[in-house]
Formats: sequence, C-alpha cells, structure tokens
Amino acid sequence: MGFQAIQGEGWLLAKAEQLINWGRSRSPWPFPYGTACCGIELMCALASGYDMARFGAERVAFTPRQCDVLIVAGTITKKMVPVLKRIYAQMAEPKWVLAVGACACSGGVFRTYSTHQGIGSVIPVDVYIPGCPPRPEGILYALLKLIDKIEADHPLYKQRSKVIEALEAAK
Ligand code: SF4
Repeated sequence: MGFQAIQGEGWLLAKAEQLINWGRSRSPWPFPYGTACCGIELMCALASGYDMARFGAERVAFTPRQCDVLIVAGTITKKMVPVLKRIYAQMAEPKWVLAVGACACSGGVFRTYSTHQGIGSVIPVDVYIPGCPPRPEGILYALLKLIDKIEADHPLYKQRSKVIEALEAAK
C-alpha cells in the first residue's frame, strides 16, 4: 500500500494504521553498522550514485536512539556480539534490521573460532541480503522489501523485545 492507495481511499477515510505505516515506511532512518568490506558497498548505496535518500533513508545517524533501521554490513566477531545487542537495545521501537552480505547473514567464509555465524541468532533480522559483497542495487532492493514489510505491519505489532527474550531462552 503506497501513497496512491491512501489517496484512493481518500484521506478522510484512510485508517490511522495506514497513515502511520505510510509515514514510517517513507522515513526509514538508517544506523550504518559497517564492520568490514560490505560497509564499503553500503557507503556506495548511500552516496549520490545510487542515492538511498530517494527512499527516505537519507538521514543517517550514528546514534541508535534516533534511528529506525540497523544496517549490519560486515563480519561480526564474537567479541562484537554484546556491542551489537546493546546498540539494538538502544534503538526505540519500532525498529528493523538489514543483514548485508554473507558475513552478517551466516558468518560467510569465516567459519572460524572468532567469528559469529550470523546475526539472526542474537537480534531479529527483517531482510537478509546475500552476496560477498552484495552490490548496492541489492541493498536498495532489500530496503524496498523492508518498506513493503513496514507498510504491511500492524503499527503496534513491533514488540521485538519478546523476540529477543525468545532467542535468549533458546540458547
Ligand atoms: S560478505 Fe564478503 S565482502 Fe562482505 S564483509 Fe564478508 S568477506 Fe567482506
């Protein structure tokens, strides 16, 4: 559901949840958590050539308290896992996560004692982006998928703390 759909129903008749989701989906402010080579591709996606700002994601901030989308781009070592979890915890609800590249998705080629094998086991991931590294087009495509997901969510549904508790309990 996009702007046209809301217009089609008429602003007066649009449901509050549609308007809330429309606003949220058009301003997914990113927190870039680039740790390795995939971070370079993320920078490229944010720069003027690919221009992620077209989709409302131009306001990049380096404080998790003012961001909506945590973009993890690169290898996550086991020592970095507590940091990643804390950053996620500091973000206000509703919040979303993109895992950029094989390392963030599954550990990638680094099947070693020091590398965490995929961030999905410690924080809830909304969209996984395969590739080593994925191209900027892939990152933009994932952002569009996330926008679709935000539009389809119930505005009060994002109770991710419960998902975190479930992940912790499963260990
Ligand atoms: S997926 Fe490939 S390009 Fe991305 S951080 Fe890992 S090794 Fe680097």
